[in-house]
Amino acid sequence: MNRPRVIERIIESVPTSDGAGVKLRRSLGQQASDALRLDPFLMLDEFYSDRPDDYIAGFPPHPHRGFETVTYMLDGRMQHRDHLGNTGDLGPGGVQWMTAGRGVIHSEMPQQSEGRMRGFQLWINLPAAEKMKPAGYRDIPSDAIPELELDGARVRVIAGRLALDGQTAAGPVNGDTDRRSTDPLYLDLHLEPSSTIDVPVAEGYSAFAYLYEGAASIGGQALGLRSAGVLDNGDLVRVRSGSEGARLLLLAARPIGEPVAQYGPFVMNTREELEQAVADYRGGRLTAR
Ligand code: MN
Repeated sequence: MNRPRVIERIIESVPTSDGAGVKLRRSLGQQASDALRLDPFLMLDEFYSDRPDDYIAGFPPHPHRGFETVTYMLDGRMQHRDHLGNTGDLGPGGVQWMTAGRGVIHSEMPQQSEGRMRGFQLWINLPAAEKMKPAGYRDIPSDAIPELELDGARVRVIAGRLALDGQTAAGPVNGDTDRRSTDPLYLDLHLEPSSTIDVPVAEGYSAFAYLYEGAASIGGQALGLRSAGVLDNGDLVRVRSGSEGARLLLLAARPIGEPVAQYGPFVMNTREELEQAVADYRGGRLTAR
C-alpha cells in the first residue's frame, strides 16, 4: 500500500428539507447533476437536530425505484414500514438497508417526540441489470455492526471488509451475504485527538469522506465540517484528526459507468424509463411483481 488518496474536490453540504419538512443537510446529490454525485453514490443527507419541529413530520409514504437507500442512525429512533409489510424500528447505531429495485413504497417516521435526532441517509445507485430486481430490506441493529479497536481510533464496519493492523472485520452487508455489483465499503471512523489512521480502499473504486464532528485532514488537506471530500484514486486513505478528535464517514464503491436519469425518488438510465416509473406509480404498478 503506497498510493494515498488525496481530496480531488469538496462538496459542501447545504441546508434543505425533504419528506414532510424534515430539516437536513445535503452534500452529494443537492442537484441532479453528475458534478454533484460520485458514481455510484447519488446522495448523502445528514439530519441533526434537537428540535422536534425539525424532524417530527418524518417521511410519510413515498416511492423509490432503481437504487438503494441506506439509513444510519446515530441518535434517536426511526420506524420504517413498506408495502411488503416489513417494519423496522431503527435505533441509535443501527442501519436500515433498503433495496428499492423495481419499486418500494415506504414511510420513514421518527419514533420520538423530544430529544436529538441524528443520522444519515445515503443513496447508492444500481446498474441497469439490477434496477428492476425485487425490492429487498434489511434491518441491522447496532450490535450486528463489527468494530475495530485501533491505536487512537475505532472503526465501525457497516458494509464491506476491512483489514487493519492485523485485525479484520466484515460488515453485515458484504459480498458474501448479499452480492451487489457496487461492492460498497461503508465505515464510520471515530478518531481520538491528533491521531492518524491509514485505511485501505480498493484501487479504482470511487471514494469520499464526510466529516460530521471535530476536525480532520485527508492526505494532508483539511476537510471542512459537514463537507464531503471526493477522493482521487489510490489504495489507501490517510486520515488525521485535529486536536479535538474527529468522526467521519468513509465510503467507497465500484463505479457503475452508466448514464443516470433521475426524477425525484426514481433513478434510472433513460428518460423513457423515468416516464415508465411515473406511469407505473400512478397506475399502482410500481411494486408489482
Ligand atoms: Mn425513502
